[in-house]
Amino acid sequence: MPSIFSYQSAEVDWCEGNFERSTVIAEYYNTISNVSFFALSPALLYLNRQYRQQRALPMYIVSGLLLCVGVFSTYFHMTLSYVGQLLDELSILWTLAVAYSFWYPRIYFPRWFPLSGNEKQFFWLSGVTTVISTLMSFIKPAFNAYVLNCIAFHLLYLTWRELKKCNDKRVHRMAAVMVLWWVLAISSWISDRWLCGLWQAINFPYFHSFWHVLIAMSLLYCCPLVIYFDVHYEMPSFKPKLEYWPSDSWPVVVPYVALEEPHKQC
Ligand SMILES: [Zn+2]
Repeated sequence: MPSIFSYQSAEVDWCEGNFERSTVIAEYYNTISNVSFFALSPALLYLNRQYRQQRALPMYIVSGLLLCVGVFSTYFHMTLSYVGQLLDELSILWTLAVAYSFWYPRIYFPRWFPLSGNEKQFFWLSGVTTVISTLMSFIKPAFNAYVLNCIAFHLLYLTWRELKKCNDKRVHRMAAVMVLWWVLAISSWISDRWLCGLWQAINFPYFHSFWHVLIAMSLLYCCPLVIYFDVHYEMPSFKPKLEYWPSDSWPVVVPYVALEEPHKQC
């Protein structure tokens, strides 16, 4: 019986051919495309530094977890080991759970929720859910990948509900760009899973590596949106403003949230 650490012991294998470009890296492009996650974390921390100064704990923990996603995804695609697959999926699950427990808007706490408005209980609820799904992932890791992608639908639903109440044009535009990146990302992921025969026939089995880059792009837009709504709801002494780095007029820009202190009235 092969060890759970050994090469190709995972349940899934992506469309890219194995060991074609290297003897130690199973899926070459799927491995190196994770560089996008290593760029994402510092970019988020640096650009949203005004917010980070106010909310250091969630920013450092979530960026740290995003780095872990990059590390474990690199390890997984490099080895295609069972442990790699679990670590990759679990790091994504835990990042989502932690981000939800920090930033889930209180107004969306379920109505049946005991003592609604109490973050501590929500924190525990997401903790318990995560532990249960962690245990389940050991039973069927391949199925877990689909479940993880479904969480995106809940995030899209929350975004839609927030946008209905918001008339800042910049927020709407940013959400639209986020959704666009996500649609491209999930299409790449699905087409790598389902149409692999076709991509191999035309010698282009690289859609999973596109997924890594595209989902990181989508997160680059998603995080400032989350921050924007957190400032809006939880930090009444500031006004959030969406900005683009390096400046609005550049053809390639990265969004971030700046905090404005409303003028104090005499
Ligand atoms: Zn991957």
